[in-house]
Amino acid sequence: GREVHLKSRPDGIPTADNFAVHETEIPEPVHGRFLVRNEWISVDPYMRGRMRDTESYVPSFELNKPMEGGCVGRVVQSLNPDFVEGDCVLGNQGWREYWFSDGTDATKIDADKISPQAYLGVLGMTGMTAWVGLNTIGNLQPGDHVFVSAASGAVGSIVCQIARHKGCRVVGSAGSAKKIEWLKNTAGVDAVFNYHDVDDVSEKLGELCPDGIDLYFDNVGGDHLEGAIDNMNDFGRIVCCGMISTYNDAEPKPGPSNLFKIIAKRIRMQGFIVRDHMDQQPEFTKQMSDWIQSGEIHWEETVTEGLENAPQAFINLFHGDKMGKALVKLH
Ligand code: NDP
Repeated sequence: GREVHLKSRPDGIPTADNFAVHETEIPEPVHGRFLVRNEWISVDPYMRGRMRDTESYVPSFELNKPMEGGCVGRVVQSLNPDFVEGDCVLGNQGWREYWFSDGTDATKIDADKISPQAYLGVLGMTGMTAWVGLNTIGNLQPGDHVFVSAASGAVGSIVCQIARHKGCRVVGSAGSAKKIEWLKNTAGVDAVFNYHDVDDVSEKLGELCPDGIDLYFDNVGGDHLEGAIDNMNDFGRIVCCGMISTYNDAEPKPGPSNLFKIIAKRIRMQGFIVRDHMDQQPEFTKQMSDWIQSGEIHWEETVTEGLENAPQAFINLFHGDKMGKALVKLH
């Protein structure tokens, strides 16, 4: 089977040269184990952090070894009584065609009513990030004025809609006309702006949020964070989910120049990592499945075909026109 290795650590935005595809032999499964053939793999911004050789909340990818990440596949051979051929499973051994499991790192999923790849997005890690970030970290309240950056992305698009369901006013930013259109017409966001068309994010937010911001869901950092702080209401909450505008920086950029306003406005700013909140998964899955089945949640997928194109799908997270969840389809 083929697998994608990290060949060298990227300097700035990753390039195809940082990756290499290798072919390996697939042995027969031993007792208690089963073989999975991946059908979908997820590419996510957090993987950029794992390409650095520095300590973080997840270990770095090793050079010349297959990378990891969310994946959905089917059991093709099994010597484990709990998993039979044809079972659809969710795991974390992405960036490759085949993997073995003893069952401890694989979860059976029901792909009859909901598409299997939804378990990597709206019904999986990114959907749950939106849920946990808004409810547990952000203490979302009906009527809140919410600002979401990278609003059309995998996490952001779900944040916008959960907040709308809760009766909040939502303002979103994104980087292309197509994304802005989708946010307005499909996600039902109240006001939107394309940050490429704006000189000053803070000023634009002042215009679009005349009553201030109660909750900022930050996916971007940088000028979006600074602009949000300027426009936060007293006792507002900033949910620090990601800071994608900084992920390819070789040197750290100066922070927002207006941090004193966090004190003056008594703002609570909190970061979080979704996997610390797995206790909420049953409740999240129930609510999200109901919304999906009743047509109350919309999501987009950008599908890249073929394992060999997975590096480019990943690189496109940092520039390009990807809508919604970025996925790679194998076979
Ligand atoms: P997205 O689907 O949102 O993809 C990334 C998007 O970010 C791009 O499509 C692009 O959209 C935008 N972007 C890229 N570079 C920049 C930039 N320099 N400035 C502004 N926007 C940029 O990814 P996810 O939904 O998977 O992730 C969103 C954020 O959430 C990321 O920061 C990620 O790290 C974080 N995250 C955090 C988790 C946690 O547990 N804390 C879990 C999962 C994700 P556009 O065209 O709008 O610029």
